[in-house]
Amino acid sequence: MRFVDTVIIGAGAAGLMCAATAGQRGRQVLVVDHANKVGKKILMSGGGRCNFTNYTVEPKNFLSDNPHFCISALKRYTQHDFIELVQRYELAYHEKTLGQLFCDNRAKDLLAILLAECELGGVDIQTRCAVSRIRRLSEDEMTDEVPQQARFELLTSNGPVVCESLVIATGGPSIPTLGASHYGYELARQFGLKVTDLQASLVPFTLKGDLLSLAQSLAGVSMPVSIECRDQIFQEALLFTHKGISGPAALQISNYWYPGDTLTINFLPQMDLATEIRQWQQAGVKAELKTQLSRLLPKRFVSAWLERAELQSIESKPIAQLSREDIESLVSMFQGWQLVPSGTEGYKTAEVTRGGVCTDHISSKTFEVKSEPGLYFIGEVLDVTGWLGGFNFQWAWSSGWCAGQYV
Ligand SMILES: Cc1cc2nc3c(=O)[nH]c(=O)nc-3n(C[C@H](O)[C@H](O)[C@H](O)COP(=O)(O)OP(=O)(O)OC[C@H]3O[C@@H](n4cnc5c(N)ncnc54)[C@H](O)[C@@H]3O)c2cc1C
Repeated sequence: MRFVDTVIIGAGAAGLMCAATAGQRGRQVLVVDHANKVGKKILMSGGGRCNFTNYTVEPKNFLSDNPHFCISALKRYTQHDFIELVQRYELAYHEKTLGQLFCDNRAKDLLAILLAECELGGVDIQTRCAVSRIRRLSEDEMTDEVPQQARFELLTSNGPVVCESLVIATGGPSIPTLGASHYGYELARQFGLKVTDLQASLVPFTLKGDLLSLAQSLAGVSMPVSIECRDQIFQEALLFTHKGISGPAALQISNYWYPGDTLTINFLPQMDLATEIRQWQQAGVKAELKTQLSRLLPKRFVSAWLERAELQSIESKPIAQLSREDIESLVSMFQGWQLVPSGTEGYKTAEVTRGGVCTDHISSKTFEVKSEPGLYFIGEVLDVTGWLGGFNFQWAWSSGWCAGQYV
């Protein structure tokens, strides 16, 4: 029977960060992962360049039933701490937009840093290693073979292991082909912990019927918009697709969307369209409405929008003849378009899972389960979900590092 101080299940962002931190404290750490490679989500993130953090990280960038839970860890291990780590390894990176930091070259450069840190801590990482059973040891099971401090026994495909601290860093179920699973939630339930409602998030929306035909006719068209749901607004790019809508705007708002909710989209977020049209009228603009709007928005989009039933009677009117009602209709379609998506593309394309292990059970300082000494949950498996923009990795680094001080 093998004994190690700490077993971490999941060699992703949070698990590797926790392993390196604990290992460098002198703890003997074993990381097991059922996938054939470590850090698969890191490798495919940010289009292969990994958006590893953001210059500005605030609690408002995270969703959770307990919005205060993330504050302590984000303060103790900040984006600046992670930036300092990657600078130490001379990682080439750049800010893309809105404070988002990406590797200049490949995400594998970042994974190499985490693995180098694990090596410094003498961490043993075993891939293709599945865990079939976990149980807490009782005191009368301590023998010469099982040291006094052992608290958990794991049956793994590489043999039985006992450990003092057990860390669950199995992430969420998005993109199952990368090794993602529901395992962390199942384990939480095994130990009597509540798991909040789960939903694929940071995910494109699907549409049905006429809306779908409209999106399909515009597939590939992208433009900056503001998008709103449940009082949350984002200003980002929207992309029409063959299935519905995507792009950063759709992904961001999906974190706040529940089935049946309406989305409101303003395709001209920087202007007051009614005032603009009145100015065209006052200036005696002779151009067609379509031509004039195509100076502000993609031509294909303007044509498709003006052909919609709500605007058909206006489409060919000269600008000078647009009535107050016409202008109101234009404003409502271009600046307050409302739609109810039929759903999302689900876990096969989602970047994260909204919801997770209920944080009421977890210490925000150590990440230990309050009712189960020695058991820890970190990273995405918890009910903490970040916005698009490097926030989910920052949560993995912060929670992994903080737990690494105690496991
Ligand atoms: C396509 C894509 C792009 C993304 N891009 C970004 C981005 O640019 N920036 C950003 O901040 N976030 C991004 N994310 C989100 C980010 O990848 C995750 O939030 C982050 O990886 C979570 O870290 P984690 O360690 O909690 O889980 P993961 O990194 O998912 O690691 C979990 C590990 O556990 C292993 N595992 C699961 N079940 C078991 C089991 N039963 N037994 C053993 N091992 C198991 C998995 O194989 C995996 O290695 C992206 C996600 C996806 C899917």
